[in-house]
Amino acid sequence: MPPYSTLSHLDCSRDASRHDADTLQGTSTLGAPLLARYDLERASALVTPADIASRAPDLWRYHELLPVRDERHVVTLGEGMTPLLDLPRHGARLGVPGLRMKDEGLVPTGAFKARGATVGVSRAVELGVTGIAMPTNGNAGAAWACYAARAGIDALIAMPVDAPVITRRECVVAGAELYLVDGLIGDAGAIIADAVTRRPGFQDTSTLREPYRLEGKKTMGYEIVEQLGWRCPDVILYPTGGGVGIIAIHKALLEMRELGWITGPLPRLVAVQATGCAPIVDAFHAGLDASTPPADPRTVAFGITVPKALGDFLVLDAVRSSGGTAIAVTDAELLAAQGALARDEGTWICPEGAACVAAVGQLRESGWLDGTEDVVVLNTGSGLIYPDTVPVEVPTLPRGAVV
Ligand SMILES: *Cc1c(COP(=O)(O)O)cnc(C)c1O
Repeated sequence: MPPYSTLSHLDCSRDASRHDADTLQGTSTLGAPLLARYDLERASALVTPADIASRAPDLWRYHELLPVRDERHVVTLGEGMTPLLDLPRHGARLGVPGLRMKDEGLVPTGAFKARGATVGVSRAVELGVTGIAMPTNGNAGAAWACYAARAGIDALIAMPVDAPVITRRECVVAGAELYLVDGLIGDAGAIIADAVTRRPGFQDTSTLREPYRLEGKKTMGYEIVEQLGWRCPDVILYPTGGGVGIIAIHKALLEMRELGWITGPLPRLVAVQATGCAPIVDAFHAGLDASTPPADPRTVAFGITVPKALGDFLVLDAVRSSGGTAIAVTDAELLAAQGALARDEGTWICPEGAACVAAVGQLRESGWLDGTEDVVVLNTGSGLIYPDTVPVEVPTLPRGAVV
């Protein structure tokens, strides 16, 4: 039997020291994220893009490049292979006719966090974890709570009181132990880090403090390339909070190049943030390798309200080494983009995704995009999670009224 996974070991993202992948790991001895490595030579002998094309339309189609060793441990709700939509009318309006959107609003739980959760929970179960614990800005907690329920393990979640209310309900309905914290995600993280020390069997699954969430998110990169016929777009824009998605897409691209599945230049990666919380953008333009938390982080794009990301240096490396850039847009701009896109294309996206759409317009205006590129924006979630982003002021009619 060929192996289900070609997982080999874990590398420290700072000093490349090697760590065992088959015991439970958090961060490296340096406190840095661990990156899963595969036997890519073996993988390219085991599977080809043509084989993948004949598999079920979910992210487990890339299982040789995912960390779960035994298929029986896969905890799935049918996530992945989301649409890569053309945006002809809105693209033309922005002067970027080659604009497309990877629409993650269609995954279980309504945000792309389900990708990290399906792989992270599956691998946790495989390694004997009986409960996951995490701080969240809402969407990750909701997803991990649902996948934990599906796996039959416990979930302990802490989120800021300001996180989208619907995500509380998702945690509660799935039976998670949920706490609201009067503070930011870092404050929730401190409570969780303490709690896991007193709960045997629990794993701290905070952003980049376990290695496998990133592996789930990297499938966005594989899918974009597969959906374009194993070709890269020129530019990918990603709404960056903890940065897992953009680090992961970059990792996927490097893996596909090593597998021989893509050739030529990699896409330029663009980290998009909101001006109310833009530490990565600031660090990028200051030429720094690490970010400084803003004093009063605040934006309607709650999923990207991350003042200090553990993987900031990895995001900055992904952006710089791909020839990309980093850009911040205001809440007013991203909300305007959300409305304009819905009117042009009929798709209600989350404010984080809308930040990327707004950024496309600004990069075209500044000339960073010349309008000939194939551009992919990530819409990381459904607008339905954020009902309050759209005010409704319409008349109520008496019965029998004529309009
Ligand atoms: C978590 C989240 C993000 C940011 O994701 P990272 O990969 O951690 O940067 C963006 N959009 C939405 C909707 C999110 O929930």
